[in-house]
Amino acid sequence: MEYKVCVEKVRLKFSAAHMATFGGEMEPLHGHNYAVTIEVSGALTDDAWVIDFGALKKAGRDICDELDHKFLLQRDSKVVEIDETDTNWKFRFAGRGFVFPKSDVLALPIDNTTAERLAEYFITKLKPAFAATGLNNLTSITVGVEEAPGQAAWATDAL
Ligand SMILES: [Zn+2]
Repeated sequence: MEYKVCVEKVRLKFSAAHMATFGGEMEPLHGHNYAVTIEVSGALTDDAWVIDFGALKKAGRDICDELDHKFLLQRDSKVVEIDETDTNWKFRFAGRGFVFPKSDVLALPIDNTTAERLAEYFITKLKPAFAATGLNNLTSITVGVEEAPGQAAWATDAL
């Protein structure tokens, strides 16, 4: 039998700004109050757990804290011109230029700041955290990133 645990929303939140690109356009600068859901599936341990809720929430909160109150920059964008200086991130797209202090920016190793890629980023960060627990009963992780109530993207990966 496979079981699933889920932690969501309460304290799994962050507020951040971004400008996603799509079809040759880039959104105006704006922000969201994001809410995150993390689901982990697997067999039960001898103690009848999939994974400790507390550990799961802590791992998720650590990532939310990293993203909170930042401008999320798609560092690996194929369409935004991005330059890193000692103190700033500079980027240009279709004649619009921006200079943000590094302290206000989280440069993410993703090609676009869509909710889909943010969900994938959470998975990328959580997988090593799970590996470090030594648990070998976990089979898959799903992360949902909600940009606004009723508007969320989900990503799933095997563990
Ligand atoms: Zn947005």
